[in-house]
Amino acid sequence: MAPTREELKSRIERFVDQISDELIELSLQIHDEPELGHQEVKACGHLTRFLSKHGMTVTTGTAGMPTAFKATFAGREPRPVVAFLGEYDALPEIGHACGHNIIGTSAAGAGVALASLGCDLPGAAWVLGTPAEETAGGKVTMAQQGIFSDVNAVMMMHPTTGESRIGGTSTATHGFTIRYKGRPAHAAGAPQKGINALDAATIFLTSVGLLRQHVPEEVRMHGIITKGGDAANIIPELTEIRYLARAKSRAVLDAVVERVKACIQAGAIATGCEVEVQDRRGYETTRHNKVMAKVLRENYGRAGIGVNPEPRDGKGSTDLGNVSQVVPQACAYPAIAPDTVAGHSRELCAAAGSDEGHRVLIASAKAMAWAAIDLMLDPATLESAWDEFRKSQ
Ligand SMILES: [Zn+2]
Ligand SMILES: [Zn+2]
Repeated sequence: MAPTREELKSRIERFVDQISDELIELSLQIHDEPELGHQEVKACGHLTRFLSKHGMTVTTGTAGMPTAFKATFAGREPRPVVAFLGEYDALPEIGHACGHNIIGTSAAGAGVALASLGCDLPGAAWVLGTPAEETAGGKVTMAQQGIFSDVNAVMMMHPTTGESRIGGTSTATHGFTIRYKGRPAHAAGAPQKGINALDAATIFLTSVGLLRQHVPEEVRMHGIITKGGDAANIIPELTEIRYLARAKSRAVLDAVVERVKACIQAGAIATGCEVEVQDRRGYETTRHNKVMAKVLRENYGRAGIGVNPEPRDGKGSTDLGNVSQVVPQACAYPAIAPDTVAGHSRELCAAAGSDEGHRVLIASAKAMAWAAIDLMLDPATLESAWDEFRKSQ
């Protein structure tokens, strides 16, 4: 006779407790060796060795990305396939200040917990290693290349601060790299012979700053100057700006993008510079799925983490958005630090390697594995998640 849901969930709990020291060590290893997007060679190695050791079949280089991976385990049925997404990239200078070490490790923990059920697992578990969330967005490439076409449901977690929440929306992004080219000249001796590429950048930043008053409140626009000139006594010949626009809907964002492009041209026209613009559609908005969120929230409660039932309406963006456009998903945001701690801060980096971070890691591995069991044993729930997904298109 097949084991009951409760038996399966108890076995998962015992297994995760047994390997908890190993999970914490894995999380700390990634935390202590922060690597930037698409350079997560060590993190990818640590995670894939762990997954292989615990019986999952691992391939790397998924969707053509060297530090991406796919780990699979099929139980007594090949379907449904529940995929856990693991991130493991860090930020420049401030390390794991987004807590991605916990995301990657909890996804791996949930995957091997399901694999530990052997042929009693009523479906298949995948762990997808998704690189470069903070930069290019590995999940964008994976979604484009159809990696999720055989997946029935996706789950992940992302540490947060303050109140633990679930799911919710995120903003769509559009990115720009802007290069103005002028003509160098002695800044004091012959400025009339120069064309000032820093003036062009200044005009762009001024005009896009004024544009803020005339866009919907949901819009965010921000950027940096990555090249501002070579010396104070030379009229700047080349300048480069990296700029990002975001909005809750792609339609609003597309309209703003046209106005940002006009501001870019303003800099070139006013100064006589040439301008080269590389722009690209970035992350999509996240399509919330209430059915999936409920299943994951209930299991976080069982794991001892109370989660606010109201979905999180995020101002930030994530490449999970692109995944949410192709398959029903839920992402939990359990808190690892108080509200006073900001995301992308040194304090959050410390929390990602703290006892509270470890507690959330272990609870998340259990909660996600349990939620997968619920989805595998309740085809009607999975079907209603897909119904909601199709209707929200
Ligand atoms: Zn981040
Ligand atoms: Zn993050």
